Order: sequence, then C-alpha cells, then structure tokens
Amino acid sequence: MFINRRFINMKNKILLIALLVSSCQGCFSQEKKTINKKSEIMSNKDSSVYSHTSTEQVSISDSAWQKLLTPEQYHVARQKGTERPWTSAFENNNEVGTYYCAACGNALFRSDTKFESGCGWPSFYEPYAKVSIIYAPDNTYGMTRTEVMCGRCRSHLGHVFEDGPKPTGLRYCINGVILDFEKAKEAEQDYNTEHTDQQ
Ligand SMILES: [Zn+2]
Repeated sequence: MFINRRFINMKNKILLIALLVSSCQGCFSQEKKTINKKSEIMSNKDSSVYSHTSTEQVSISDSAWQKLLTPEQYHVARQKGTERPWTSAFENNNEVGTYYCAACGNALFRSDTKFESGCGWPSFYEPYAKVSIIYAPDNTYGMTRTEVMCGRCRSHLGHVFEDGPKPTGLRYCINGVILDFEKAKEAEQDYNTEHTDQQ
C-alpha cells in the first residue's frame, strides 16, 4: 500500500524532476540516496530555548544542543548535514500555518510561501521576516551555494537558490527535520465554524 502510493507520487513528480534536475544539483549533493519512509516530526518544544516570541539570540554549547535535539536534527542543524530527499513529512504538507525552527522556535516561513519545487525537500520562496534567516556563502563539495541558517540560533536549515517562483525568484530548500509546523489558529477556527454551520 505504502509502496504503491509512493510510486504514484513519484510518477507525478517525474516530469518536474526532469525539468528541475539541473537546478537541483545543489540540493542533492552527495546525499542522494534511496527513498525511505517519511521521517518523524520532532520538535524541541519543552526546552528552555524554544520560543515563538523571543527575539533573544540562542547561543548554547554543542553538547547542550546534542541533548536537546534528535541525532538527525543535530546532524542537520549543528553539523550542516542534509536529510535524504523525499523523507520529510512536510514536503507534501499543504496545511495553512507557520513553519518554525525546530531547535529554537523562531518563525521561519509562512505556509503561503511554500511551493512544490520537485527537489525532494520542503521549499519556500520567502522567509517569514528578514531577521528569520542568516545567510552565508557555502563553497563545499565543489559548488557555490548560499547556506541559510536560523536567525535566532544559527541552526543550519538548508540553502537558497535563485530559481524559485515569483515574486522573489528564490527557492529556499529546507531540511524538514529542522522545521516545526503549527496550524494557523484562524484557519482552524474557520474550518470548525463552517462545519458547525453545516450541521
Ligand atoms: Zn533556531
């Protein structure tokens, strides 16, 4: 059942992949591997550094991060790792809400700036706010890329490429393991009201 659904999804994406494969090379790097099941969504919500409202910079030791994050999150966020493509449960998430840094809770992206890039990672064309993201040149693996990090805790998030849709023309290619999603409360209320009215 799972394999069939995955196979159908892959078929639907094959044209997009063919179109985007050259521009997605930066995304794939050496991490291109077989498709595994969706990774679990984990967040760090109970930690003392996690906040949706604080603008205070988070600066804690690597060993403290290691205790707060899952091994996969730690590898991506603090060791600049890359999760396997097509493994994030957020890759196909179309719900209305906000994406936060799973390490510190900083607001990173709005769901209405998310788009289907076909590259295997959640993609957005604009950050939540200018201060959401810190940029740095990344010349590893023989590529010239721009790394994006959380503006509050400097966790590695992914990269930004200049082949995104309008209005920015940018594609923020983000590791889903370091994203935390919260549904918009307004949207939830509208949905509940509509369904109550219909009853
Ligand atoms: Zn953060």
